[in-house]
Amino acid sequence: MTTVAIAMERIEERIQNACARSGRERSGVRLMGVSKFHTLPEIEEAWNGGLRLFGENRVQEAAEKFSVFKARQPEAELHLIGSLQRNKAKAAVSLFDAIDSVDREALIDELGALTNARKTALPILLELHTAEDSKAGFPNLDSLYHAAEKAYAFPGLALRGLMTIAPFTSDERLIRASFRTLSAARNNLAARFPDYDWSCLSMGMSNDFEIAIEEGATLIRVGTALFGERHT
Ligand SMILES: *Cc1c(COP(=O)(O)O)cnc(C)c1O
Repeated sequence: MTTVAIAMERIEERIQNACARSGRERSGVRLMGVSKFHTLPEIEEAWNGGLRLFGENRVQEAAEKFSVFKARQPEAELHLIGSLQRNKAKAAVSLFDAIDSVDREALIDELGALTNARKTALPILLELHTAEDSKAGFPNLDSLYHAAEKAYAFPGLALRGLMTIAPFTSDERLIRASFRTLSAARNNLAARFPDYDWSCLSMGMSNDFEIAIEEGATLIRVGTALFGERHT
């Protein structure tokens, strides 16, 4: 077995344990492999181990690796999880299956315009800023309300939920607080916009995905624990 395949088994076990501890179904949590700074052969190892969902945080790097890979493996699903600059939005919309890091209203306008003529809407998540370590994200619930209203006006966009990055700390209480903030925001939005889909909560990375599962994550983004230290 390859190193990545072994790591995948270990992560799978940890996901199952976290689900069992919190009374959740394993099927309610998707594992995303975050392959930034990792090579195409490493991505292929994860694919061969059964991984189908990948996350990258830069458009150019993702295009270099995944335009080839996705042509060969059409079931591979690729999400953008890093901040998106306006001049890269067009390339992003054609490469990624979802944009999970929508962090400002101007970007919604841009993505909405680029997807207007699509037959199937582009899934997006709104990123909420819940910890000082990260700069990105909408600052509060009110800004999410406005963002949601804006997104709903575009037929080419399908808002599916929220994402956040917890603080980089060993203090579990702070991490948990960040995930709870996201989960509470989702509940608020679902109450305010009950006709829409708020099912996705993208939270939890290598160091904290078990806490995230306990707090309701439906998508966890795992890089280092899966692929090893990043080649920078
Ligand atoms: C890099 C990255 C991850 C993965 O981080 P690890 O700690 O290596 O698991 C998850 N989410 C985002 C937004 C990232 O940029």
